[in-house]
Amino acid sequence: MTEQNANHDHGEHVHEHAHHVHDLPASGREKGPIRGLLSGMATTARTMTKKTSTRQYPDEKPDLPPRSRGVIALLEENCTACMLCARECPDWCLYIDSHKETIPSETPGGRDRQRNVVDRFAIDFSLCMYCGICIEVCPFDALFWSPEFEYASGDIRDLLHEKEQLGEWMRTVPAPPDLDERAPEAPEVAAASKPPRVARRNVTK
Ligand code: SF4
Ligand code: SF4
Repeated sequence: MTEQNANHDHGEHVHEHAHHVHDLPASGREKGPIRGLLSGMATTARTMTKKTSTRQYPDEKPDLPPRSRGVIALLEENCTACMLCARECPDWCLYIDSHKETIPSETPGGRDRQRNVVDRFAIDFSLCMYCGICIEVCPFDALFWSPEFEYASGDIRDLLHEKEQLGEWMRTVPAPPDLDERAPEAPEVAAASKPPRVARRNVTK
């Protein structure tokens, strides 16, 4: 085949291709107004008979799973202000202040004890990334996930919540799941059910 013939053949292909494009079915806009209207009404009728998944929030509250991460709640009585959560928080959004309190001995000659009292416990939810590390590392079960999520604010400064509000959210923390009946008894339960130890007397030989 000569170069001229090849160009000629190529020209025919281009012409044929253009012809095929011309034969393609018309787009929706080119169908005409009546056909487009009927097609739209058919889609509407089909959708109307389908089950809707839209929830009418806030009139209809969502049914959230119990392990939802909405907000972090604080059980202040359990907190010893050990600062573990604040040290592990990757965002540094936990603020804890405390002071030491002396508890006098209950027995004569006994030693007084000291304990930390929480003065301030706050979480800045504008920084928090809801990773849950603080809850995981707390050795005293003082922090919990609550599914409560309705605390949006128009002012970012209002997302800094103090211990009073964090304590309020404890009411929304779901109860823990039931224990597995086949699980072995917890060591704490076994230790608590042991008879009390009797003090040994000094025996002289
Ligand atoms: S969830 Fe994560 S980011 Fe938020 S306070 Fe706890 S440790 Fe910090
Ligand atoms: S919440 Fe837990 S980890 Fe954080 S200071 Fe209190 S006891 Fe320590």
